[in-house]
Amino acid sequence: MEKGQHMMRDPEWFMEDEKGWKCLLCPRGCSFKSNSSTLGHCRVRGLKDGKPYLPGYGECVSLIVDPIEKKPLYHFLPGSSILSTGPAGCNLTCDFCQNWSISQIRSVPTRYISPDDLAVMSMTGKSRGIAFTYTEPTIWFEYIADSAPLVRSRGGVVVMVSNGEINLDPLLQLIEITDAWNIDLKSWSDDFYKRLCGGRRDTVLQTIKTLAASSCHLEITFLIIPEENDDPVEWKEMAQWISGECGADTVLHISRYFPRYKLRQESTGIETLLKAREIFSEKLHHVYIGNVSLEKSNTFCSSCGALCIERSAWFVSTEGMLNGKCVSCGHVLSIVHEI
Ligand code: SF4
Repeated sequence: MEKGQHMMRDPEWFMEDEKGWKCLLCPRGCSFKSNSSTLGHCRVRGLKDGKPYLPGYGECVSLIVDPIEKKPLYHFLPGSSILSTGPAGCNLTCDFCQNWSISQIRSVPTRYISPDDLAVMSMTGKSRGIAFTYTEPTIWFEYIADSAPLVRSRGGVVVMVSNGEINLDPLLQLIEITDAWNIDLKSWSDDFYKRLCGGRRDTVLQTIKTLAASSCHLEITFLIIPEENDDPVEWKEMAQWISGECGADTVLHISRYFPRYKLRQESTGIETLLKAREIFSEKLHHVYIGNVSLEKSNTFCSSCGALCIERSAWFVSTEGMLNGKCVSCGHVLSIVHEI
């Protein structure tokens, strides 16, 4: 069966004008000429025979139960597992994409999973729900809108791992049906976003601010690339902004870059990651280093300093936390320990 034919689901966020159609889901705002058959930039939405359609609807690139720490989410149901999937496409074009083989090329193998089947699978075995991740899930708006309520009706949680390049109105609708987000903040520089990603920084900041003010749990990931976004002055401004707009308890994951796709810079040095953690920790209570085997991803009580959550690779011990509080001093930790 041709992709997108599994369900005659009406696409949302398309607007018709005298020239044709425009997609309003993300700031890229793809335009489609009347009566054409074209894919949008993200390749999961487009026009067919002059009508909006969703060739990527339910077409999953992967379907794996992962530790939730791998998303990464460290302060949301720590130690749990979650079924993870994503669409074959992206609305950005990051030269350094770490998942470029499923986000940036055409003809990625996919498997259709209906929303009903996804909801059942999301609560099978040890999985606590569904994580939409790997590529860019917000471009899957309609599939998530259909699947997420089914997952929740079974008692599951819905996690989004996103680049944050989504317009405000669809974001607000997704917030209503999701529980936790990890947003990539790729740089403090808008020039970086324009030059290397084909996006804009301020859209991502708007998304982060909106999520911080919502009932969803929020964590942020910052991939540090040598010579591109490793200026400590920018780090200080970013730390100040996150702390001021989202709060000092906002979790930040500093992630190590490896050469992938078009960018060939060497991997981020350990010293750079440690320096970044030091600077971000001046404003934020919980800064973790990812993509590297350091014994530094434990969670300590921000009141008494006791070890509350111990992590080693994907092993997680929450013995230092009871009902979301520090066992040593009773301080309420900024951790979603149960839904
Ligand atoms: S969601 Fe896809 S089709 Fe819509 S504007 Fe963004 S890139 Fe274009």
